[in-house]
Amino acid sequence: MPTFSVFPYRGRFAPSPTGLLHQGSLFCAMATWLDARAHDGTWLIRIEDIDPFRDIPGAGDAILRTLADFGLTSDEPVVRQSERLELYEAALKTLEDRHRAYGCACTSHEIKTEDVRLGLPAGVYPGTCRGGTHGRPVRSHRFLTEDRVITFTDRRLGRQEQNVEKAVGDFVLKRADGCWAYQLAVVVDDAAQGITDVVRGEDLLTSTARQIELQEALGYPTPRYLHIGLILGEDGEKLSKQRKAPEITSDDPLGLLEKLWPYFGFSPLGADTLDAFWKEAVRCWKARCA
Ligand code: GLU
Repeated sequence: MPTFSVFPYRGRFAPSPTGLLHQGSLFCAMATWLDARAHDGTWLIRIEDIDPFRDIPGAGDAILRTLADFGLTSDEPVVRQSERLELYEAALKTLEDRHRAYGCACTSHEIKTEDVRLGLPAGVYPGTCRGGTHGRPVRSHRFLTEDRVITFTDRRLGRQEQNVEKAVGDFVLKRADGCWAYQLAVVVDDAAQGITDVVRGEDLLTSTARQIELQEALGYPTPRYLHIGLILGEDGEKLSKQRKAPEITSDDPLGLLEKLWPYFGFSPLGADTLDAFWKEAVRCWKARCA
C-alpha cells in the first residue's frame, strides 16, 4: 500500500444514515481515521443524508454518538449533505452550461426495453435523450459521458480503468424523485471540503471512474483513492445496513476494535485502553504506508 507525501492530507468518513453503524461501517471508519492520522492529516465526518426515502430519522446523530464512544470525532464541524443542496444545484448548472448534463424523459421501463433492443448490458443508459426530450417532460438529469477510458491507481488494488460511457452510460445526477444522486453530491463535497484522500470500501470501486469523469468536467482535482476490503457476514455477503447487519453497541469499544483490527491483516494489539489501541494502530498503519 504505497503512499505519497503530499500535505496537508484531508480525509473523510461519509456514512449514509440509512441505518445505524454496523461492524462493516465501523471498519471503514477505522481505516479512514487511521489513514488520516498516519499522514498527520485532518479527519472529517460527513453525513450523506440526501435520500429522504431511505434515510432513517435520527440515524445520523446516532452514528456520531457511537463513533464518539469509539474515540472518533470529526476534526471540523460535521457536514450534512441535506444542508448543502444549493451546492449540488450550482454544480448541475455548471455542467449544463458546459454541455455535460441534460434533461432525460426516460422511465426505467423504457431504458430496459431499449437496452434489450440495442443489445446493451442491462442498466446502461442508451443515450436516448442526448439530443433532447422532444417535448416529453424532463424526469431526471444525466451526465453526458465521453467515450474514453478513465484510469486511476488505487493504493491497494493498483491500476484501474473504465470507459464510463460503455460500462454505465450517461448516469443520473438528479433523480426523477427530485433527490440528488450520490455521484454528484460526493464529488461536489469532496472538492468543497478539500479532500485529498478518499478511503472507502471496495464496493464503491466501480463508482470511482464516474466520479473522476465528473471531477474533470467540473474542473475539480482528483483525490487519491484507497478502497479497502470488505468484512463479509457469515453468508459471505457484504455487511450493510440494507441487509440489516446488526448495529454495534458501545458496551465494549476496545473489544470490538481489537476484533476488527486483524481484518486489516495486522496481529492483535492487546491494548489496555482505547487511547493505547489507537496509538499503536496508527504506528502499525504508518509503518505499512511507509
Ligand atoms: N455514503 C456512502 C456510504 O455510506 C459512502 C460514500 C463514499 O465514501 O464515497 O456507502
